[in-house]
Amino acid sequence: MTLSGKTALVTGASRGLGGAIALALGAAGANVAVTDLLVESELPDKEQLGRYSVLAAHFAGSENVRTVSTAAEIKTMGRKSLAMKMDVTNPDQVQMVVAEIAAELGEVDILVNNAGVMDNMAALEHQNLTMFERDLKVNLTGAFNCIQAVWPYMKKSGWGRIINISSFVAVSGAFAQPGYGASKAGMIGLTRSLALEGAGHGITVNAVLPGFIETEAVQLHDPKMLDRIRARTPMKRLGKPKEISPLVVFLAGEDAGFITGAAIPVTGGADMFVF
Ligand code: NAP
Repeated sequence: MTLSGKTALVTGASRGLGGAIALALGAAGANVAVTDLLVESELPDKEQLGRYSVLAAHFAGSENVRTVSTAAEIKTMGRKSLAMKMDVTNPDQVQMVVAEIAAELGEVDILVNNAGVMDNMAALEHQNLTMFERDLKVNLTGAFNCIQAVWPYMKKSGWGRIINISSFVAVSGAFAQPGYGASKAGMIGLTRSLALEGAGHGITVNAVLPGFIETEAVQLHDPKMLDRIRARTPMKRLGKPKEISPLVVFLAGEDAGFITGAAIPVTGGADMFVF
């Protein structure tokens, strides 16, 4: 129970990595706010969502939306938990949700910026500015909005843990995903800049750089592409969400207090040269 008495906020936690991270933080003793664009109770307009993200439209209304049920599972562990709709691109909504978490669960000590979009794949001549800017707005500015909302609480208490879920493509580059690659690289710059600023206030800021992880979203890829990914990964497999969450729990804990500004790959070796 290394995180007993701490309050965590996880973004984009309705499924995939975010869901696994929320559950792992709960299992480690934290009270957890599970937030996402999608919640079970809402019947979303798929057409409108489709203009925003192919993945959001695909999963909306399906059993893969587990924001409320993840919070319920965390409560069965004896923790407090909240499921809330929160769009990370909307700073006013983020501020409101963070204030509500403070009232219901306690002030946020641990923030995991996991929300992300990764469906914008096309060669440069087929890229458009709207989608490029959406990638930056969700993946990078979204993280900034959430950090800005929790920072005053962390500064006041003299303790905070911010963990940004970037990607190993931040360093390797992302073929046909210039917006995704740039946004994830930007998250490392954001991490290191705020690590410098947080250091004097007991706030650590780190980035986790997953390789290919077998989440519901990644399973939608063409099976042939997944085979190619397995083949060029030294461990010859994709990772599991449960192989990312333990590092996040560790970085969120007291024992990781001297680690800050780090960008840690968890890739099965996929970030190394293979031939
Ligand atoms: P995912 O299932 O698509 O999860 C992303 C989550 O973010 C979704 O629940 C999505 O909600 C949510 N989201 C998108 N825009 C949002 C917004 N504006 N506000 C709040 N939530 C929003 O993908 P995943 O595989 O679990 O990935 C999770 C994170 O890890 C992402 O940041 C991704 O870039 C990163 N990552 C994943 C891998 C991998 O191989 N899986 C590798 C490296 C990095 P919707 O339901 O609306 O779509």
